[in-house]
Amino acid sequence: MKNIVIVGGGYGGISIAKELEKQDLRNDVRILLIEKKSHFYHTVAGLRAGVQDLDDSIFIPYSKLFTSPKNQVLHATVTRFDEKAVYLNNSLSEFGDKVEFDFLVIASGTRYPAPARVEASGLNEGKDEIQRIRQQIGEAQSILIVGGGPVGIELAGEIRDTYNKDNKKVTLIHSQPQLGNASYMPTKVHHKLLGMMTSSNIDVLLNDKVDLPAPANEDQKYNVVYIPSAPLPVSKQGRDLSHVDLVLMANGNQPDAGWVEASFTALVQADGYVKVKPTLQVDHPTLANKVFVMGDIAGLQETKLAFRTVAHASVVSANIAKLLQQPDTPENALKHYKKGVDMMLITFGKNKGVTILPWGIVMGNWISSTLKSKTLFIDRYWNELNQTPPSASK
Ligand SMILES: Cc1cc2nc3c(=O)[nH]c(=O)nc-3n(C[C@H](O)[C@H](O)[C@H](O)COP(=O)(O)OP(=O)(O)OC[C@H]3O[C@@H](n4cnc5c(N)ncnc54)[C@H](O)[C@@H]3O)c2cc1C
Repeated sequence: MKNIVIVGGGYGGISIAKELEKQDLRNDVRILLIEKKSHFYHTVAGLRAGVQDLDDSIFIPYSKLFTSPKNQVLHATVTRFDEKAVYLNNSLSEFGDKVEFDFLVIASGTRYPAPARVEASGLNEGKDEIQRIRQQIGEAQSILIVGGGPVGIELAGEIRDTYNKDNKKVTLIHSQPQLGNASYMPTKVHHKLLGMMTSSNIDVLLNDKVDLPAPANEDQKYNVVYIPSAPLPVSKQGRDLSHVDLVLMANGNQPDAGWVEASFTALVQADGYVKVKPTLQVDHPTLANKVFVMGDIAGLQETKLAFRTVAHASVVSANIAKLLQQPDTPENALKHYKKGVDMMLITFGKNKGVTILPWGIVMGNWISSTLKSKTLFIDRYWNELNQTPPSASK
């Protein structure tokens, strides 16, 4: 049996798994997706889960991802790989602590602060983590969000949608002179979002910074949602933040390619992303004919978004299918990836948001809430994993 191993069962991992299963692969080829978590965590709805109980919607079982029984989802953390196998943190029946591969797809994503991510691997522990965050946000009187990119903006919108100004003060601090970053957020979008925030009584501090005290509780593992151990000092611009009793970090995603670096140091760029060729093969002299990389962890010059993984998956699956048939296919005869249009939807609670389209087109609340803010694509991803969405049984 030949193995195509996928590491990571996030948006990219499930796209490539499904795409490969659709290909007419030979009977002696199977797909093995290795994911450390027991359930798919739907990040896109993670911020709303920080203020509302979405526990039964946000964790989606992997049990029906594949339709053919020869393909499997395995639960383990991959700690490293070599030219033939990936190595696991625990032993799995049938495989032991390593899984051999003929093709490997690296789709292990990046690290986001909670509640966009949970750290726990098990379902109950993951729900506990989210419930704890919800409780902390619920009890706080004055919240500081650190970071004014899409995640910080969406988080502020979710908090304000659930809690009004009388029971919670919300402040967002951002080191840049405008919300987000001028490279992907045109000035008119900044003004639109700033207007939404200020009219919702969110204090926005731009071009400002604060020296954060340590968490009060040293056990607060990931220090992304925490009660400060001391009153916050005034900000660099002189704003009083001593009232803050909960800090939420929204300072962007960080590449987390430690297991790749532990295997082949040269595969990881200085910025932490994995070196990639236009064919989505890794950029490495001896690995390129069997190792691919896709999703957020790939060193592609594009905004890191789940919708792009569908196009990545189409290239990776076509190239694997081709190399299975003709292992000596030259690189120039493989499919090359072309970045699609730039598009971004930023929610602001359930009924508001901004949609940034190509050619400077910006759409407002109605289109943004219809496309994303209301539903956060929850049903869509239950369907992607071949499960019945919880809303269908209500
Ligand atoms: C709040 C928020 C809202 C967003 N909204 C949108 C949106 O509306 N539209 C959009 O297109 N994008 C959106 N994004 C971006 C989107 O979430 C990412 O682009 C997407 O998650 C990338 O998918 P991925 O598969 O590369 O990585 P991930 O989804 O991060 O998946 C990686 C998976 O790999 C697993 N893993 C990691 N290391 C290992 C290992 N060593 N062994 C085993 N398993 C491992 C992880 O557990 C994880 O499940 C949003 C992001 C955030 C934070």
